[in-house]
Amino acid sequence: MKAIIIGAGIGGMSAAAALDQQGIDCEVFEAVKEMKPVGAAISIWSNGVKCMNHLGMGKILDDLGGPMHNMAYLEGFSAAQMTRFSLKPLVAEVGERPCPVSRADLQARMIDCWGRGKVQFGKRLECVSQDENGVTATFTDGTTAHGDFMIAADGAHSIAREYVLGHKVERRYAGYVNWNGLVEIDEAIAPADQWTMFVADGKRVSVMPIADNRFYFFFDVPLPKGLPEDRSTVINDLKGYFDGWAEPVQRLIDAINPETTNRIEIHDVEPFNPLVKGRVALLGDAGHSTTPDIGQGGCAALEDAVVLGKCFAASCDIEGALQCYNNSRVERVKDLVLKARKRCEVTHGFDPVETQAWYDELRAETGVGIISGLSKTILGGPLG
Ligand code: FAD
Repeated sequence: MKAIIIGAGIGGMSAAAALDQQGIDCEVFEAVKEMKPVGAAISIWSNGVKCMNHLGMGKILDDLGGPMHNMAYLEGFSAAQMTRFSLKPLVAEVGERPCPVSRADLQARMIDCWGRGKVQFGKRLECVSQDENGVTATFTDGTTAHGDFMIAADGAHSIAREYVLGHKVERRYAGYVNWNGLVEIDEAIAPADQWTMFVADGKRVSVMPIADNRFYFFFDVPLPKGLPEDRSTVINDLKGYFDGWAEPVQRLIDAINPETTNRIEIHDVEPFNPLVKGRVALLGDAGHSTTPDIGQGGCAALEDAVVLGKCFAASCDIEGALQCYNNSRVERVKDLVLKARKRCEVTHGFDPVETQAWYDELRAETGVGIISGLSKTILGGPLG
């Protein structure tokens, strides 16, 4: 049995690992010649870590994961602590740690784990067709590939999504812009073992430790879509948006390198059903594109891969196995997308009264409420 996998992101590489575990041959096709992941880092929550372990890639996280042992919210203007707590109870409850990692390093290590030479780069899927004998992918360079089935992990702008649904789906602007990057850890900004967030006025500034003494930082600002983007003004733009914010935030802005800072208008896609048409299945952002507000998009791609592998372990009937994948994933990914959307609205001040109530809640938070929410999301994954 042979699978065609489209996309060599977290979704494509984890799908390849999962199918390989079931003895299925995989050919991986990736559009770009050189991978340039959007986003500087990514937090793989405990559900994603369990999936990476299951797929035989746990060592990657051991090597790349940052020491995120505590979590804290501070008021943005004064840096007054709203809440601070240990993540140990979360790890004890769900049985695995969260792991913030450099995205470029994760991506590179996942590809290397599969075999860089086995990924066909510069192959952009243009169209898909299928019949009772299998699936044919046609690439923009005019070449084709044939397999028994296709796993389309071609990301948020997926071509295959349109094929599966029979119509184009527009992405939805979530109402805020995210700047992110990496800086050397500076404890005058925040402790080196803590996920620290400064919040006020529907804006958010976050630093999270990753390996090699680096903070993954991001700034969220509610803004209209389509404002001009210019690297030369990043520092001034952030200084303006965070005018009057506390000293650690100013220090972080001064430390960032505009050349390596990403600016992303955050989008999601309305959850849909099905994820599968016959022998073609959508996986990762192709099947469920979410805002990053609960840090679960990449984790959900890893979950997809684990479930895909389990469905093929249970049945060699291709369409049956893909249907099993569809049925096992549709509700879970819808739940994650909608949960992230709700979190996005509260965090970014879409209803100022609701956001103020959340700030008040944070001041009374002992950690129990936040850990309970995180743990519910994590334990809803396929590996518990
Ligand atoms: P992608 O990473 O987009 O990979 C798709 C691949 O397919 C790409 O390599 C692309 O080049 C290729 N491709 C595209 N079109 C074609 C084509 N036509 N033919 C062939 N190849 C094609 N998730 C988390 O779990 N935790 C986080 O903390 C987190 N933080 C985030 C922060 C930000 C700012 C953003 C934007 C996202 C964040 N996410 C996070 C979400 C996460 O990045 C995505 O869910 C994840 O990268 C999806 O992986 P994927 O492989 O499905 O898609």
